Amino acid sequence: METKYIFVTGGVVSSLGKGIISSSLARLLLARGYRVTVQKFDPYINIDPGTLNPYEHGECYVTVDGHEADLDLGHYERFTNIATTRANNVTTGRIYQSVIDKERRGDYLGKTVQIIPHITDEIKRNVKALGNTGEYDFVITEIGGTVGDIESTPFLEAVRQLKWELGRNALCIHLTYVPYLKAAQELKTKPTQHSVKMLQSVGIQPDILVLRTEKEIPAGMLRKVAQFCNVAPQAVIQSLNAPTIYQVPLMMHAQKLDDMVIEMTNSEVRTEKPDLDAWNLFLEKLSSAEKLVTIGLVGKYVELQDAYKSISEALLQAATYCDRKLDLRYIHSEKLDESNVSEKLSGLDGVIIAPGFGQRGIEGKFTALRYCRQNDIPTFGICLGMQCMVIEFARNVLGMENANSTEMDHNTPYNVIDLMDEQKSISNLGGTMRLGAYECRLRPGSIPAVAYGSETVRERHRHRFEFNHEFRQRFEQAGMECVGENPQTGLVEVVQIPSLRWFVGTQYHPEYQSTVLNPNPLFISFVKAAIEYGAEREND
Ligand code: GLN
Repeated sequence: METKYIFVTGGVVSSLGKGIISSSLARLLLARGYRVTVQKFDPYINIDPGTLNPYEHGECYVTVDGHEADLDLGHYERFTNIATTRANNVTTGRIYQSVIDKERRGDYLGKTVQIIPHITDEIKRNVKALGNTGEYDFVITEIGGTVGDIESTPFLEAVRQLKWELGRNALCIHLTYVPYLKAAQELKTKPTQHSVKMLQSVGIQPDILVLRTEKEIPAGMLRKVAQFCNVAPQAVIQSLNAPTIYQVPLMMHAQKLDDMVIEMTNSEVRTEKPDLDAWNLFLEKLSSAEKLVTIGLVGKYVELQDAYKSISEALLQAATYCDRKLDLRYIHSEKLDESNVSEKLSGLDGVIIAPGFGQRGIEGKFTALRYCRQNDIPTFGICLGMQCMVIEFARNVLGMENANSTEMDHNTPYNVIDLMDEQKSISNLGGTMRLGAYECRLRPGSIPAVAYGSETVRERHRHRFEFNHEFRQRFEQAGMECVGENPQTGLVEVVQIPSLRWFVGTQYHPEYQSTVLNPNPLFISFVKAAIEYGAEREND
C-alpha cells in the first residue's frame, strides 16, 4: 500500500495533548495491522532540545541512535512499542541549518534562497524521509505549536502543499479546545471555529476535528461545529479528560477515529477491529490495582513533573504489572538535609535518585543515599543518580573526604567520577555527550542480570562523565561492585551493593526503553523489591 501521511495540528491553546492523540492513533493503526511511525516537528530554533533546561520544555528524550529529542517521542514509543530515531524529530533550527549548509555548498546554483520554496521544500523532504524508506504504511506528523504562531507558518505551508500533492494519501487532524464557562454554564465552540478559520486561511481544510474538553460535548454542538467548519459531522469527535492517557486510544476508537482515517485515505482494510488485548490487559490492571507501592523520586526539577516523564511512566508501568497502584512522591533534593531526611524518606518503599546536571541539589542526593544505604531501602540511581551513589560511597565508606565528580568540583582530591579523555577537548554543549544505545555486559547473578534474564543488554545513554577506573578495585573490595560494563570500552555501566536488598545504579537510562507493552525489566525488579520491603515493614 502507498504510504499515507497524517498531519496533526493544534489550535486555540498549547498543551492539548497532540502527542497523546498522535500516539493513540498510531496504537490503533498498529493494532489493525499497519506499519506506523510518528514524527514531531518543533517550531523552535534550537537544533534539538538537548541544550534546553528541563523547566523550559520538560524532559529531554533520547532515541536509540543518540538523538536528543522532544518528550513527545517518549509518548510515541510508550504507545507504539516502536523505536524512534533522529528522523522522528525535526526542529526549525535543523531545517535552517540544513538549508544554510546547502547554500554554502552551492547546491542552490546561484538562486536566492527563500522560505518558500527552500525552507518549505526542506520540511517536505523531512516529512517524506520516513515514508520513503518503504517501512511504513502510515507516517503521522505532529506539528508543534499552535496555528497562528509566526513560527509554525512554514510548516503549515509545507502541509498545505503536501495535502495538495498527495491527495487522498494525506489527511489533516486538527485538535482544538472547547472551554467550559462556569458562570454561563456553557461550553463554547467559538475558539474552535476561529482556529479552523485560521487554518483555512493558510489553505488547509482539516478533515477531522478532535475537540479537547473537560465536559461532555452534546451531539448537537458537535454537528454545529461540523457545519461551520466544512467537516463531515461524524468527523468531529471529542477528547474528554481521561483517568489515564493510556485510555485515549480506546476513547478514539469508540468514536471511530481509526475507521475514518482508513476510509478517508482509501487504505486497504487489514482487520475489521483493532487487536487491543494486551493493551486492555494493562488498562485492567491499572484500574483494578488497589494496594499501593510508594516510591520517592529525589531530584531538583520536581516542580515540573514533565522533567521526569519517562521515569514516572516507567514506574507506573512496572507498578501496574506488579498489581500495585503507584504512589509517586517527588522530593526536592535542594530541600533535603540531615535534619529532615528521615522524616522524608522513612515511609517509602523505594527511592529513585534522579538524573541531572550541575551542582544544585547534589548534596541532598548524597544525604538521601546515605540514609537509604544505611537503612537498606531499595534504591535505584539513574545516570547522575548512579554517579552520586559512587561519590557517597567514596566519601562515607572509603573515607575519601570531598570525593566528587569533576563536573561539580574540578579540584576534588578523589575524582571518582571524571570525564572520558575524548570528552575533554569538546567545547560545544549541544549533542556532544555519550548519547544513544550502547551494549552493556552484566555480571552473572547480579540483580540486573537476573532482572533482564540476560547478560547482555543495550540501553540508552545521555551523559559526559564516567566512573573513574583508577578507583574500581577499592570500590569492589569495600562492597560496591561494578556489575555492568561496556564490552568494547570497559566503561562502568552498572554498580550494585550486593549486601543490600536492592541498591543499584545505572549509568544508562533504562526509563527510555520502558513501554506499556514492554515494561523495562530493571524497573520491574526495583518495584518488586520495593513491594517486598513494604510488606516486611508491615509485618514488623
Ligand atoms: N551530569 C552527568 C553527566 O554528564 C549525568 C547526566 C545525566 O544524569 N543524564 O555525566
